[in-house]
Amino acid sequence: MQVPFYGHQRQYLSIKKEIDDNIQEVIMSGGYVLGPMLKKFEGELSAYSGMKHAIGVGNGTDALWLVMMALGLKAGDELITNANTFFATAEAIWVVGCKAVLVDCDPLTNCIDPKAVEAAITPKTKAIVPVHLYGQCAPMREISAIAKKHNLFVIEDNAQAIDAAGDDFKIGELSDAVCTSFIIQKNLGTFGDAGAVFTNNDKINSEVRRLRNHGSTARNVHSFGFNSRLDDIHAGILSAKLKHITAWSDQRIALAKRYTAGLQGAKSFTLPYVRPGYRHVFHLYVIEVKDISKREAFLKFLNDNGVDAKTHYSIAIHQQAGYPWGKDAEIRGSLKNAEYNAAACISLPMFPELTTDEVDYCIAKVLEWDKANS
Ligand SMILES: *Cc1c(COP(=O)(O)O)cnc(C)c1O
Repeated sequence: MQVPFYGHQRQYLSIKKEIDDNIQEVIMSGGYVLGPMLKKFEGELSAYSGMKHAIGVGNGTDALWLVMMALGLKAGDELITNANTFFATAEAIWVVGCKAVLVDCDPLTNCIDPKAVEAAITPKTKAIVPVHLYGQCAPMREISAIAKKHNLFVIEDNAQAIDAAGDDFKIGELSDAVCTSFIIQKNLGTFGDAGAVFTNNDKINSEVRRLRNHGSTARNVHSFGFNSRLDDIHAGILSAKLKHITAWSDQRIALAKRYTAGLQGAKSFTLPYVRPGYRHVFHLYVIEVKDISKREAFLKFLNDNGVDAKTHYSIAIHQQAGYPWGKDAEIRGSLKNAEYNAAACISLPMFPELTTDEVDYCIAKVLEWDKANS
């Protein structure tokens, strides 16, 4: 059996008419950039998220730095974020000239460790950028308490966890803004690049809207800005998909339960930890290989046996050759959990259209390797 990592075509075929109709509607409307479909989709996003403003932008990375710029963050300011995240989180901090201060994660959830955050604060610290890694919310209550105490902004990197929630908090409730990505492989993804900013703050809203469109506030009136818009074609695709996001998340959660039940007895791995009461939407189903010296062999075994497993992310930010030491970035405290995560992680196939037979096949292959290696 061959089990793919993504199911983009399967998902398209399951709602083909809804997507095709929206694409047709955009083409015939005559509005393709900042047109009626984008306006409609922004309204739907805002209603869905319960947040006052939703602003479509070019991609998730732009969403992050547009918010940072809208907040007036600049060279000399320090922003604290995960060492274990997708590279773009740190990259966005560098775009605005700030320093990325990288801290460790909680070994159970792999989300940012609030104790490490608090220990890294200096008079130059201006914001915390927690990542809702793999589809599970960072501990926002603790992070927001630290931010209040030290008067810091909080920007949620929610590229991986649309439709997730904490035990008694929603995404966006405990921060200044939420940034998401709609690139195809995310839980809500279009056939290309797109992203969005969510905020209850009117000033962030108006600034991001201005900055994304050449600094324009009215026709022919410009100040410093950029081109980072969410095209109406993508808004149409995403609008069709948004109606299904809750059902798709539920499907991911059910498949994750099946993996966890099937892999319970395996000795070589740590299985994903879900914080009590949290809605973890399993953007990725990540297991960790206890003996990190065997990770590459395990990955090869899975790939050779038709399981398209991958690693997210096998090189932490501070381990990247292109990591700008000194002025633009620094590590504070031990990063041992983040480094272990990078060395041990394996993502098994996970998408809503995955069949139970495919999950069972992946489980069987993981158990086969476990038996031979423990
Ligand atoms: C995907 C991702 C981004 C960037 O999104 P793009 O749309 O690819 O720019 C940022 N942060 C995290 C955690 C991501 O997973």
